[in-house]
Amino acid sequence: MSFVSVNEPLLNGNEKKYLLECIETGWISSEGPFIKQFESQFAARVERSEGIAVSNGSVALDAAIAALEIGKGDEVILPTFTIISCAAAIVRAGAIPVVVDSDPVTWNMDVSQIEAKITPRTKAIMVVHIYGLPVEIDPVLELADRYGLFVIEDAAEMHGQTYKNRPCGSFGHLSTFSFYPNKHITTGEGGMIVTNDPALADRCRALRNLCFQPQKRFVHEELGWNFRMTNLQAALGVAQLERLDEFVARKRWMGQCYTELLTAVSGLQLPLARTEYADNIYWVYGLVLKEEVPFDAEKMMHLLKQHQIGTRPFFWCLHEQPVFKKMGLFQNESYPVAENLARRGFYIPSGMALTNEQIQQVATAVKEVLL
Ligand SMILES: *Cc1c(COP(=O)(O)O)cnc(C)c1O
Repeated sequence: MSFVSVNEPLLNGNEKKYLLECIETGWISSEGPFIKQFESQFAARVERSEGIAVSNGSVALDAAIAALEIGKGDEVILPTFTIISCAAAIVRAGAIPVVVDSDPVTWNMDVSQIEAKITPRTKAIMVVHIYGLPVEIDPVLELADRYGLFVIEDAAEMHGQTYKNRPCGSFGHLSTFSFYPNKHITTGEGGMIVTNDPALADRCRALRNLCFQPQKRFVHEELGWNFRMTNLQAALGVAQLERLDEFVARKRWMGQCYTELLTAVSGLQLPLARTEYADNIYWVYGLVLKEEVPFDAEKMMHLLKQHQIGTRPFFWCLHEQPVFKKMGLFQNESYPVAENLARRGFYIPSGMALTNEQIQQVATAVKEVLL
């Protein structure tokens, strides 16, 4: 049996054709025609009027924070169970990340804990949809409205997902995506900010492009970054977007296969198939070891590796990150649900190119290790 890697993308549509077009026409920088095409098609897909392509999903968050003028002393509420990028953007802006625990079943932020964390300094709520199910977002929008807060929606793991039949990525004042190769559609490296607010979109466009000015190009009123996406990346994006529905359907099918194969295995918490407001799209197929299993995720991943199966641990909680502890953040805070997910959760191969045989192979290995 050969090794099953945790992620392999599928690039067998129009990717090659569009990339060749870039090379043959010489449009390889961020000035090429695929950029605008990808921006407008992607934005339309999530029912937004504006799309701003950037170099990855992490900098999309940096630009979003800057565009909303969140800075020194401001507080942003977000889940502790998420990728470092979310908090890094807040901290680098001089603002303070304030975290809430996770829901033990959906693994998303427990929205019932948000209101108690709101203070006069709170500027925004950063919603992060985790692993395949959207956050229960209506109560968040209601709170944001009532307290006059911005909503930043990190939809990096949610291409093609909906909440109550509305697209994920359509809810934030600014919403962000990543196109890293393990996302449902990929550009290698890449990201996008979407919004309906033309002024915010203009700010994001300026911030992505060093805040060059339209009139006096090299005279700067503000500091931006070079967060531009290349035409080569956007060419991949256009080709991948053509197949988003197919990819989401395939991921759902993979998730159902894994669930059928693993449902009788004791000791495992499987991903929830659906909530009242969405069916899981299984960005990754996560597993959480129940209390009865006498070892943690690290050990389990080691054993699976010996069975030729690639895995990744779940996120490590923000409030337990050494880098933030050293800054004096999150002293004596504890979020038991997220801490348990971080220690006992991991995910098994879930990439677009995963074959039916590999799914069987993975499930067999998981069973063998736990027997
Ligand atoms: C992948 C991911 C990001 C970061 O995207 P990159 O393109 O890798 O920088 C941000 N947020 C979430 C929730 C992600 O899953």
